[in-house]
Order: sequence, then structure tokens, then C-alpha cells
Amino acid sequence: MEILAIANQKGGVGKTTTAVNLAASLAGRRKKVLLIDLDPQGNATSGTGLEKRALELTIADVLLDGIDLKDAIYPSPAGFDVVGANRDLSGIDITLMGKSDSHLLLSNAMQNIGDYDYVIIDCAPSLNLLTINAMVATQGVIIPMQCEYYALEGLADLSQTIDRLKELNPELHIRGVLRTLFDSRNTLANDVSAELESHFGDLMFKTIIPRNVRLAEAPAHGMPVLDYEKSSKGAQAYRKLATEIIKQSRQLSQ
Ligand code: ADP
Ligand code: MG
Repeated sequence: MEILAIANQKGGVGKTTTAVNLAASLAGRRKKVLLIDLDPQGNATSGTGLEKRALELTIADVLLDGIDLKDAIYPSPAGFDVVGANRDLSGIDITLMGKSDSHLLLSNAMQNIGDYDYVIIDCAPSLNLLTINAMVATQGVIIPMQCEYYALEGLADLSQTIDRLKELNPELHIRGVLRTLFDSRNTLANDVSAELESHFGDLMFKTIIPRNVRLAEAPAHGMPVLDYEKSSKGAQAYRKLATEIIKQSRQLSQ
């Protein structure tokens, strides 16, 4: 089993889009996938076709009340399992702050989750306690980035957080930086992309996710783009990302 968190404290960089569509693409490759939504906005949850407000149990019940994570797993219409989130999760990092081991809650809850090939965790746009919980529970971090002028801003904080948390979680590493919302006709985007490559080298995913309107439309239909329009550029890109990640997984396990 591999655990991958999708994180970047910037909003709107394609974290949730990546979480849902990567999960769907891995499931499409016959991998057994669990998606855990750690954002009170619950967009990853609704993006899989689940009704986030109607869920009986969410990740908030797991973290706040110690409900067994297994009981909060629901099969989604998108073809993989989901532990959902909704507004019940907002403010929870403040509530948990006083508790001892508050940063270990997710990792402890994930001890006996079963035989998944991949667990994908969608983080909120923040470096709050929930994101810290994800970093402690995960192995690899996937960092989606939009190739714009301020792309690198905030990245130092994220890398620093990852480095600090290695003390608690020695397995923690950056699995890859993913260029998202990419417009190849945009000169600045190409410049920033080249800068990222020189900065991160092998840590860059070769797959680049283009700006594609189908990716933006699919969530309104409660579907991954693979189900919404499987031949779209967006669907192709996320299938390619899944292939790249599966290949990496094989190399890592050797
Ligand atoms: P985050 O989770 O980082 O806040 P989202 O995945 O929610 O970002 O994406 C922000 C917005 O951009 C959403 O409306 C989403 O549908 C849209 N979006 C994300 N990736 C793409 C893309 N590659 N092409 C077009 N729209 C995208
Ligand atoms: Mg999001």
C-alpha cells in the first residue's frame, strides 16, 4: 500500500482536481484506491459523486470522536472508496490543538484500513493541523503547482514543514511536483516551468496537466473527468500521471 498526500497551501492550484482524477485513473488501472478528503470544503467528496452533506460518517467523526475509519469508508459512484469531508471538519484543527498526539490522529486511524494499493489524501489549502496530520500519515507528498509568477512563493514553507516532520515520519518525502493548469502558449508559464525543472530536477513529474475546461466542468456533474469525457486532454493527462506514478511505485519497491 502506498499513501500519497496532495498538498500545497495555495488554493486553486489543482489539488482536489488531482486527488479525484488521479484516484480515478489509478482505479481505472485496476488499483484498489481509497480517497480521503481532509478539506472542510468537501470538494473531493462531491467530485466523486457522493452527497457530502448526506454522509452519515465523515473524516471529522474519525478525528474528533475516534470513530473507526473503516466505518467512514463509502464506495463512490466514481469507482473507488472515499472517506468524505464536509463543513463538520471546519475549525477542527483548533478543537484538536489541546489534545495530546493531535498530529497523530489520522495516522493512528489509518492503521487497519485494509488492502488498498493507493490511499490518496486531499489536503486543504493550509499548513494547519489537518495538513500536518496528512504529512505524518503519508509517505509521499504530491505538490501541484500552477506555473505563474508567484508559483515558488510559499514553497519554502512547505519544504521546511516536510523536512521538520521527517523527525516524526522518516518515510516522508516529496513524491513529485506536478505542473497543473498549464497553458503551453503562455511564455511566462513556460519560463516558470523551466525554472521549476532547474530547481526540482528529478522531483518534477514528466506529466504536465494542461488547462482543460472539461476538468473544470466535471465536478459539477459529480464525476471524474474520465467518466465525464474520457477522451479529453484532461483525462489523457491524468491517465498519463497514473502510469507515471505506477511506474515510480514499481521502482521504489525494488
Ligand atoms: P485546489 O484544490 O488546489 O484549491 P482545485 O482542484 O479545486 O484546486 O482547482 C481550482 C479550480 O480550477 C477549480 O474550479 C477546478 O475545477 C479548476 N481546475 C483545476 N485544474 C484545472 C485544469 N487543469 N484545467 C482547468 N481547470 C482546472
Ligand atoms: Mg481543494
